[in-house]
Amino acid sequence: MADHAPRPCCHPGCGRLVSNGSYCAQHQVLADQRRTEQLQAANKRYNPRRAESDKFYDTAPWRRFRRYYLITHPLCVDCEAEGLVVPAVVVDHIKPFKERPDLALDETNMRGLCRPHDNRRRHDRRGRD
Ligand SMILES: [Zn+2]
Ligand SMILES: [Zn+2]
Repeated sequence: MADHAPRPCCHPGCGRLVSNGSYCAQHQVLADQRRTEQLQAANKRYNPRRAESDKFYDTAPWRRFRRYYLITHPLCVDCEAEGLVVPAVVVDHIKPFKERPDLALDETNMRGLCRPHDNRRRHDRRGRD
């Protein structure tokens, strides 16, 4: 069975002959490490604030707060302003979580919204970003 012809290791200045892959055993480890670091850096670059707020919306305190808020503030405030009575299904942060994480569980920073109004506000917010 013919093996691949040995090639020199791709690590600059190494030159050890390798029959499998691009690096000798020693430099393969370094190459793997470098790739892991690059992946981690790329993940970090990928909007860390977004990831942080996504994590927040998954926490027990937020779920508890949200449930409580909808019981005490059951109506969509935007519909109310238009003279309509529509149940709220979303608890929206007036000041977005990524700007004021300290107000994340502050009742005065909340408003209840119906789904269409939540979508509209999200859309407006994206336009400003
Ligand atoms: Zn090498
Ligand atoms: Zn509404």
